[in-house]
Amino acid sequence: MSSLLPVAEALQRVLAAARPVSEAVELPLLKALGHVVSHDVVSAVDVPPSDNSAMDGYALRAADAGYPLPVSQRIPAGAMGTQLEPLTAARIFTGAPIPPGADAVVMQENCDEVSGVLTVRGGVNAGLNIRTRGQDIRSGSVAVARGRILRPQDLGLVASIGCATVNVFRPLRVALLSTGSELMEPGSGELPRGGIYNSNRYTLAGLLSAMHMECVDCGIVADNPEATANALVDAAARGDCVITTGGVSVGEEDHVKLQVERLGRLDLWKLAIKPGKPLAFGSIGDKPFIGLPGNPTSVFVTFCLIARPFLLKMQGANEDSPLSLQAQADFAVTRPGDRQEYLRVTLESDGHGLRALRHPDQSSGVLSSVSHSNALAVIPPGTTVAPGDSVEVIPLDFLVR
Ligand code: AMP
Ligand code: MG
Repeated sequence: MSSLLPVAEALQRVLAAARPVSEAVELPLLKALGHVVSHDVVSAVDVPPSDNSAMDGYALRAADAGYPLPVSQRIPAGAMGTQLEPLTAARIFTGAPIPPGADAVVMQENCDEVSGVLTVRGGVNAGLNIRTRGQDIRSGSVAVARGRILRPQDLGLVASIGCATVNVFRPLRVALLSTGSELMEPGSGELPRGGIYNSNRYTLAGLLSAMHMECVDCGIVADNPEATANALVDAAARGDCVITTGGVSVGEEDHVKLQVERLGRLDLWKLAIKPGKPLAFGSIGDKPFIGLPGNPTSVFVTFCLIARPFLLKMQGANEDSPLSLQAQADFAVTRPGDRQEYLRVTLESDGHGLRALRHPDQSSGVLSSVSHSNALAVIPPGTTVAPGDSVEVIPLDFLVR
């Protein structure tokens, strides 16, 4: 029996502990992209506000279509027509309100107008080319629901009901701490022997920024107990939650586990995930804490699969789990693993479907494997894959946004 914690179960546990922020702020629409709606946006109007023409053409009574019809008025978009008398037609343009008395619009391509008299080719049914009042949004209905992460099209929808602002949850403050005595900030000088540049900080800051959250940068902390404890207390004071990288294995240089246990509570999980086995989850005081592994690729994968849904729930978002697709594997997995593996792959469309090409180096320290890929292929524990098999893939664009 494996004592590894399945990814789905870890996710369930962190989600159960996520308490959403409650404070809301009102933002102008143009500043609201990516923020999470805090109150249902209810429309006070019908969209469109009246029946209107879907075409440039002629408005008439469908029953009159077989007769020569004098063109009695002209209605461009933005104008209002007048009552349409029987056996007449109105010249009308896309978006213009249907004049009372008309019940159809014939597109101009199916009409002949000679000396102000219209003849229509073919039959016409009532309702033809009419966009009805409220077809898009009815007055009193919810245009955009609480919990929605605002996408460009949602901003347009809110604008279409006449609202210039929208209420959103204030951005979550995520305190970020990089642990490791070997770490050095890029730009702060030449690497000493044994040193490496801190890359996790940048990956995570970018991921948080793509989620429109506030990254509270708590810098680097060296591998010693006092410094780690102080940095954790500081991070918990500054953020709504704390995310660290590194130091959660059980080596004697891994201080995060012990210090979080002292300051709050902690579960250390051996996750059934590859890359990224060690993951810590707990709290410092009343602030939730997630301790990601140190290896840069593990950081990316565990953040996207565990931390991201957790943070989105804290942010008040109603996000479904990321969509996955099926692709044909261009590779083999010959040995079944005991962990769910997230292979970094490049999806290519070959005209028939998707093919997944595996990055040649799947080591957890090789960040190029993420940077030079566009998807994760999900290989469940205990499975093998032969070239040509269908595998589940999650495009990175579904995770980084
Ligand atoms: P740890 O879990 O602290 O033992 O770290 C595992 C591996 O990830 C080590 O090789 C670390 O040097 C590396 N690592 C940890 N933190 C970072 C970071 N912020 N940026 C780049 N590599 C890191
Ligand atoms: Mg370390």
